[in-house]
Amino acid sequence: LRAVENEKKFEPAQTLDGHRVKVVGNIAQPDEAASVTTQGGEGAGLLRTEFLFEASESEPSVDEQVTVQKNIVTDLAHRQLVVRTADIGGDKPVSWLSMAPEDNPFLGVRGIRLSFKHEAMFCRQLEAIYRAAIWQQQSAQQCSLHILFPMIAKLSEWRKARDLAEQVRSQLNAPVLPLGVMIEVPSAALIAEQLAQEVDFFSIGSNDLTQYTLAMDRLHPELCHEADSYHPALLRLIEMTTCAAHKHGKWVGVCGNMASDPALAMLLVGLGVDELSVSPASVPSIKNSIRSVSYTKLQQKAQKALQLGSSDAVMALYQNHDDLV
Ligand code: PEP
Ligand code: MG
Repeated sequence: LRAVENEKKFEPAQTLDGHRVKVVGNIAQPDEAASVTTQGGEGAGLLRTEFLFEASESEPSVDEQVTVQKNIVTDLAHRQLVVRTADIGGDKPVSWLSMAPEDNPFLGVRGIRLSFKHEAMFCRQLEAIYRAAIWQQQSAQQCSLHILFPMIAKLSEWRKARDLAEQVRSQLNAPVLPLGVMIEVPSAALIAEQLAQEVDFFSIGSNDLTQYTLAMDRLHPELCHEADSYHPALLRLIEMTTCAAHKHGKWVGVCGNMASDPALAMLLVGLGVDELSVSPASVPSIKNSIRSVSYTKLQQKAQKALQLGSSDAVMALYQNHDDLV
């Protein structure tokens, strides 16, 4: 199996009946970009930029941020790169940033909420992304960068983030980049129809979407094993998201851990997800899983899963893949 995976790892993945699914990698540290490429990833669906802020003792300069991004763009050989603006707070504290103690950090000032509290810092991060885009356009005559905003719960948050990005872009006269939002809060999935009319793409953060849908802390030692992503409530939110996006001609990726699990990846493709962003090491095996099944059958099976009432029932349905060929 390994030999087959290796042989085909640089080829795109399509199902037995010819449905194409994009498989890309997640990057949380700069040195992971090269492994996305060597594993056959078609780009990066999520650059977690928190490392830029966590590793330093103060805010990294715009120049430092640009340099890191240029190196990643180069390691990816100009394949798609989705840069998520800093998702600080919650499980990702930053020691040098003053953050008031909170009783419920996961429900507190994190992600885009924190960015708006530190607007100048947010704009400097946007400036670094657009400067990297200017450099890429000059050096490679193309632009593979995308910008993704984390923890969007309301339409007004998306619009504010978009407007700030546009302000920074126009001041620099930088190329227009696709702008997307993370769907990782149930309210965002529930207004996907409205968001889809305005954004360029969605990226489902299944780690947070699971924790917020089930009200189970993703790091809680007694609960995290129960906070699984087979729950039909989560599946319905994902389906709402893909339906809304496709209705408006937009694409949907999944960048949470769910996408790296072969059984759940099949479920996601059946629910209409266009791109799976997985750990770099999982790229060849996820591509191979896609190649071994029929898309029509994946869709039929996902519709059955949506009718079930529990994670256990969905898990049992996905134990066996013989019915997908
Ligand atoms: C997610 O929530 O699924 C996600 C990809 O974001 P993070 O794990 O960085 O919160
Ligand atoms: Mg998240």
